[in-house]
Amino acid sequence: MAVPFVEDWDLVQTLGEGAYGEVQLAVNRRTEEAVAVKKVDTARALDCPENIKKEICINKMLSHSNIVRFYGHRREGNIQYLFLEYCSGGELFDRIEPDVGMPEADAHRFFLQLIAGVEYLHSIGITHRDIKPENLLLDDRDNLKLSDFGLATVYRHNGRERLLNKMCGTLPYVAPELLRRKEFRAEPVDIWSCGIVLVAMLAGELPWDQPADSCQEYCDWNEKKLYLTPWKKIDPIPLSLLNKVLIEGPKNRATISDIKKDRWFTYQFKRGVKRTRLSSGSPTDSQGPFTKQIHSNVDLSPASGLPWSEDQTRYSSSQPEPRVALSSWDSNHSSIDNLVQGISFSQPTCIDHMLVSSQLQSTPGSSQSSWQRLVKRMTRFFTKLNAEQSYLALKEVCEKLGYTWKKSCNNQVTISTMDRRNNKLIFKVNLIEMNEKILVDFRLSKGDGLEFKRHFVGIRRKLSDIIYSQKIPLPVT
Ligand code: ATP
Repeated sequence: MAVPFVEDWDLVQTLGEGAYGEVQLAVNRRTEEAVAVKKVDTARALDCPENIKKEICINKMLSHSNIVRFYGHRREGNIQYLFLEYCSGGELFDRIEPDVGMPEADAHRFFLQLIAGVEYLHSIGITHRDIKPENLLLDDRDNLKLSDFGLATVYRHNGRERLLNKMCGTLPYVAPELLRRKEFRAEPVDIWSCGIVLVAMLAGELPWDQPADSCQEYCDWNEKKLYLTPWKKIDPIPLSLLNKVLIEGPKNRATISDIKKDRWFTYQFKRGVKRTRLSSGSPTDSQGPFTKQIHSNVDLSPASGLPWSEDQTRYSSSQPEPRVALSSWDSNHSSIDNLVQGISFSQPTCIDHMLVSSQLQSTPGSSQSSWQRLVKRMTRFFTKLNAEQSYLALKEVCEKLGYTWKKSCNNQVTISTMDRRNNKLIFKVNLIEMNEKILVDFRLSKGDGLEFKRHFVGIRRKLSDIIYSQKIPLPVT
């Protein structure tokens, strides 16, 4: 039986893991509303206690269709709960086929939405500082949403811009000036990361470990050796945009307004016709990601308490805060309001199984909506074997591949290994019985998303004999 989260709300699935806690999906039993709940254990985050307050403060300032919506937060003992828009489309990296990328039209659409989100952030003086496919989520209509403002900061306040000096981000995505340990401007650093995301989408690989002279691939790029991978896989038109974005000197790097005038950026992809030029700045979908959606009634008041310098962080958790300071958030969602304000908590032991045991199987009527609720992931397959045999087959392959294998709880294993860059990669696998078949569902726990995808593809290849190659028809939605 599902364990109540707060009245009417069930925690049904772990969506992801972060450094200091998990992100879980809460579904309202009555209204079927879904909310992502990010739990941060402040006791585990003792090294940087101000970070979570800053993440909350910044989230309150945001309101844009390409940014994950923030509903509110609540503290219970050491745990801070952040209530966020649920992105059922999963993470962008999951749409990237290792070494291949994705169709150029899809990459184009996602890139336009990414730039719209970043342009909005910069318009209110905020820099994200960790743009990468793992932090770009997709909603049910495949709209891209910037997520995880744990490293974000204010770099412009009252019209005055400050330079940054803190090294943060993820090495393959950081701009070269950040590694030089001097002061640097915030905007070009975010723009650089958007360029790396574009390379990942178009080529299915990252161009280098880090943008430093010690890195051969980076030197090759600076010497314009475009006959090398990943560049040779990219069409000359988007490559010309990358040539303007991945420029070592931040002063010469394309700005967002330069990007918006670029030839590839302004193309419109249509079925049957490879590219058609859009007039500059045309909206790309019904939501018009180019229109600056800075609502006049966004409550920017927390900005006065935001740190000008990161060393002078001044936050008070007792400081009165607007409960939800978002223009896009209205009071019609009383059930989510209850969730934000609720007090009674009771935690299930293994949340991933609740979705399966309590909702997917026992009540056929509710299984449809549970399927709709299941986060979309390509990193899963159905096997032709029973649960025990599937488990043993997976174990055998993982052991042959030299992975560390640990059973975490019933039907869940944690697999760890090192990736090509010698970084730790940890992922979890759930074996879920569904319609008398076994679904083997992989989820990244720690490490690089593209590398995780690469390892998943390797495992899938080795298990191809026992995997259903055809799509299993899921309950019709
Ligand atoms: P990190 O330590 O990697 O910075 P974090 O603690 O800041 O992580 P997030 O990056 O915010 O946590 O979330 C971790 C994962 O949880 C994401 O990669 C994603 O898979 C999932 N997730 C987070 N927010 C949502 C959401 N709103 N909807 C769906 N899934 C989400």
